[in-house]
Amino acid sequence: MGTQVRVEVWHENETTASRAIAEVMAEMRRIDAAMSPFKPGSLLSRINRDAGFEPVVITSELLEIIGRAQAMSRLTKGAFDITFASAGHLYNYRHKRKPTDRQLKQARQVIDYRLIQLDPETKTIRFTRKGVRIDLGGIAKGYAVDRGIALLKQAGMTSALVSAGGDSRILGDRRGRPWMMGVRDPNKPKAMVAILPIANEAISTSGDYERYFDEGGQRYHHILNPRTGTPVQGVQAVTVIGPDAMTTDAWSTSLFVLGVEAGLSLVNQTPGLEAIIIDARDRLHASSGLQRLTTSGAGKVQ
Ligand code: ADP
Ligand code: MG
Repeated sequence: MGTQVRVEVWHENETTASRAIAEVMAEMRRIDAAMSPFKPGSLLSRINRDAGFEPVVITSELLEIIGRAQAMSRLTKGAFDITFASAGHLYNYRHKRKPTDRQLKQARQVIDYRLIQLDPETKTIRFTRKGVRIDLGGIAKGYAVDRGIALLKQAGMTSALVSAGGDSRILGDRRGRPWMMGVRDPNKPKAMVAILPIANEAISTSGDYERYFDEGGQRYHHILNPRTGTPVQGVQAVTVIGPDAMTTDAWSTSLFVLGVEAGLSLVNQTPGLEAIIIDARDRLHASSGLQRLTTSGAGKVQ
């Protein structure tokens, strides 16, 4: 997943707890092996290679994740779109490489979630045009975190944290009190702009400082506008709180693309979700539920 995984567990028996943690780590590796776009042997790579030519049989797991991604695309009118990868694969942030205008123009023809056909009956995926690519980077880490929490629950844990990169989920609380999760300042690596109480919930952050390079006064980062195939401008960071990490992961990426106004309006219509967006001018915008929380004194948003 190209990221750091963290598992914390409170349990009276160290052996049981260590075994459960090892299981979670093994599960993370399994998911990475199936869903990495960089491993030629992954099921995801097979899809990208073959689904433009013939239906590819996939696992129930991938069917579920891609199905969720498609639902998110419909809800956000295409702001969240796993076919962003048709352009996304042309960027290399480490080597400061980006597509040419000609490449982008071509790639845009094959960015459209409606080009994906999922068939739950035959458990297959097919692209209705050649050249389409998908990447689950905006949702799979959340899924992996949820799987981690599910395994810990099965092992009898009642108090734990699992996180992968910017996606975390908390099982239970910390001896009767919520976890206090910091939202970092996008411009100062060690400073926090808010601290939020979290218990039995998930929290995800997407930032333009995660994977990027600067060139000609512009920041080329890893969240792309599917309409243009270029990095989204106007937002620096998004944090979402919700019931599970797959939800908050997909939403944080979505809100980044939707921007402050459309994004918060959609969050405010959705029960069980809250969000903080930091725009390009360092202004902080919070969803309506978080504003209530701050004035009631339960949390602190500065
Ligand atoms: P991270 O935790 O890696 O920062 P995010 O949740 O912020 O992940 O999502 C960023 C990732 O989402 C990108 O690295 C890419 O794989 C994927 N992505 C980028 N743009 C989009 C988009 N418009 N729709 C869906 N996924 C996207
Ligand atoms: Mg995300």
